[in-house]
Amino acid sequence: MARVPVAEGVFTWSDDPQLIGSRCSACGIVTFPVQDSCPRCGSTDMAERLLPRRGRLWAWTTQEFPPPSPPYAGPTGDAFVPFGVGYVELAGEVKVETRLTEANALRIGMDMELVLVPFRTDDGGNEVVTFAFRPVG
Ligand SMILES: [Zn+2]
Repeated sequence: MARVPVAEGVFTWSDDPQLIGSRCSACGIVTFPVQDSCPRCGSTDMAERLLPRRGRLWAWTTQEFPPPSPPYAGPTGDAFVPFGVGYVELAGEVKVETRLTEANALRIGMDMELVLVPFRTDDGGNEVVTFAFRPVG
């Protein structure tokens, strides 16, 4: 069974994955995911930027039921397992909306790190992998 990313251009494909964002060369704002133009100043001079693997939990909640589909393409019905969702602030420069590996035992400000986790199995039998953040330590 092969492992495949849920989408291209979202994270690097390695043992130490990083999210792929973009940085505005004009005003310095960092975005995730990559954007073609700056949401603050409108510049189109955006450069790809690999984001730090660690950050701090900024806000979170628990997803107790499957989100609307589409865009959600994960397990539904009895196969659905509640998961945490939240924002992780990376290096004080960008907040990333993300799945969390925990649905409990979370607290604001705790250290989090990026991991790749199984998401679903596609029609070809491949394991589709997405990104999440987990508590450090
Ligand atoms: Zn800008």
